Amino acid sequence: MMIVIMRAEATMREKSAIIARAEDCGYKVHLSEGKERTIIGIIGDDRVINREQIERMPGVERVVPILKPFKLASREFKAEDTVFPLGDHTIGGSEIVVMAGPCSVESRAQIIETAIACKEAGAHVLRGGAFKPRTSPYAFQGMGEEGLKYLAEAREITGMPIVTEVMEPALVPLVCEYADILQIGARNMQNYALLHAVGESQYPVLLKRGMSSLIEEWLMCAEYILSHGNTRVMLCERGIRTFETYTRNTFDINAIAVAKQLSHLPVVADPSHATGKWEYVASAAKAAVAAGADGMIIEVHPRPEEAMSDGGQSLKPEKFARLVREMKSIAQAVGRDINP
Ligand code: PEP
Ligand code: MN
Repeated sequence: MMIVIMRAEATMREKSAIIARAEDCGYKVHLSEGKERTIIGIIGDDRVINREQIERMPGVERVVPILKPFKLASREFKAEDTVFPLGDHTIGGSEIVVMAGPCSVESRAQIIETAIACKEAGAHVLRGGAFKPRTSPYAFQGMGEEGLKYLAEAREITGMPIVTEVMEPALVPLVCEYADILQIGARNMQNYALLHAVGESQYPVLLKRGMSSLIEEWLMCAEYILSHGNTRVMLCERGIRTFETYTRNTFDINAIAVAKQLSHLPVVADPSHATGKWEYVASAAKAAVAAGADGMIIEVHPRPEEAMSDGGQSLKPEKFARLVREMKSIAQAVGRDINP
């Protein structure tokens, strides 16, 4: 894998010659036409094409090999932050996107009530699981398609786009009928068939970090999605497993800074799963904003004690509303903002 940086004055013909050469050798080509110059990513086995030969072709300024195992996800490949819209908002730019809602869709009334409360508190995107990856097969598994229908109704009412988990490739088309953003859960981070399917869907993807995954493994999973031409990938740090037991997981705040440095992709923080206890969610959320997260995903439930999953880590709407105000102040202190 290498990137070919063309001279500012390179012609279309010169660019096409590089592309044709790479494609003839069986490579995939990724073209990015910047304001100043064009960059051509040549993706595939480095042994077939010779870097020096490409460097001698007309119009080429230089050729840079990408040494990291993740290529399309790397800053070497794309220096500028990836920015894309989510509903009326934009992720990856100066604003911070707030996603909120219950762990699971439990009923029509519950998701609509929660969606309205989250919207009033300042959320931009509605979360809610219809297909739940539960540790126990006897625990509530989610409402399935009925839950997706209620999410779509909540979107009608509030105008918020929906993020919801998809657990298997066969269900990608169904989830895409209702959702705006596909969530890959921590337990499925390395489900390659699923990464392939969501990559092909071309829907925005929220990729959770596996609970025992290296940052590099997480970025390699983003690479799978990107390799199908889907550029709208968000990385989500949701806590990792350590020896500590007072919290459900250990929030890896380092991962936010590391992922932002290694990759151009937006990074979202999930302080709910990262801590597992509502008392700590606000602290972790505020730290994530300060650390440079581009988005937040937070579990909110109007009556956490009645929740069918993750009640212990869900904020009541009033607490969530206060947290959004606090996060906004922190965002502004670090040159960002949370817009209404
Ligand atoms: C969830 O978002 O409710 C969830 C199951 O998250 P994770 O995959 O991070 O455990
Ligand atoms: Mn949950």
